[in-house]
Amino acid sequence: EGSTKDQVPIPRYVRVNTILTTTEAVVATLSKRGYTHVSLSDIDWNDKKARWVSRDAHIDDLLLLPPGTDLHNDSLVTCGKIILQDKASCFTAFVLNPPPGSHVIDACAAPGNKTSHLAMLMGNSGTIWALDLDVRRLNTMKTLTQRAKASIIQPMHGNFLELDIHSPQFENVEYILLDPSCSGSGIVNRLDHLVDGPEAGTSEHDKFDRLSSLAEFQIQVMEHALKFPNVRRIAYSTCSVHTQENEDVVATILATHGKEWRLKKALPSWPRRGVSSSGLSQEQAACLVRCDPAHDATNGFFVALFEKIGHEPTNVK
Ligand code: SAM
Repeated sequence: EGSTKDQVPIPRYVRVNTILTTTEAVVATLSKRGYTHVSLSDIDWNDKKARWVSRDAHIDDLLLLPPGTDLHNDSLVTCGKIILQDKASCFTAFVLNPPPGSHVIDACAAPGNKTSHLAMLMGNSGTIWALDLDVRRLNTMKTLTQRAKASIIQPMHGNFLELDIHSPQFENVEYILLDPSCSGSGIVNRLDHLVDGPEAGTSEHDKFDRLSSLAEFQIQVMEHALKFPNVRRIAYSTCSVHTQENEDVVATILATHGKEWRLKKALPSWPRRGVSSSGLSQEQAACLVRCDPAHDATNGFFVALFEKIGHEPTNVK
């Protein structure tokens, strides 16, 4: 745990659940246990014995601890005050940024780390319909989100592709988070995640087939999300490093819906952006966020933020 395929170590990321506590209070608890509060630039990555805690530079209420810090049974985790979540996986809810009181759909929600992040960003006010096809994973989500006291989450067992866009309950949904099944090819530290398993297929041909069918599904869920009558912002993410599941999906959607939808620059201060080789202009690629596990001290990740032209919300992260 904690080491990457290449050079940069991945710290233990801890998201503070502001429904139950504050970052200051968690830092104070950790300080009592011997963790020194340091700024990012003062971290000595070579000192394997040091106990430090630092605030993340991009995500509010996200803390870094030394790589390999094991908190799985820690009381802060078991009482829901902190959530073990990789930094990159925090980007999706953070850039969607639904204001308190909004109606949100989390289309592929389990085990619910992004769902509870959404609830916290909304000040636990509004409604989040959190869908998943897999009952076992949905039950994990119920346990974890109840532990986080994220009471605005309505778990729903079902297929997002069959969710009725005309149902009155979704009439005021303006925000959709779309984190569909993917190859998981960006995941380095599997302990934090319930992903769909390692990349299947031994040959390049099998791999290509698997990626094609995943991309087909990812395009379908995007298409379905676009149909909700009042949706204005959609955050799409994968923990894949493959263009086929990332930029190519975005390019396919914009080719059909580019008159009504456009990309919004997500997380402008983040340096690593999308690749433009795939039917996207440089300007469009620059709107996209990528994380490279070898260099960014996170798992591999991709985020695209879509906004409905003429109906863009004004709150931007
Ligand atoms: N967003 C989650 C989180 O941050 O904790 C991780 C989601 S995981 C990458 C993808 C999820 O999509 C899986 O739990 C899978 O069961 C679910 N899924 C796959 N196909 C689906 C469908 N058609 N409708 C709803 N959920 C689906």
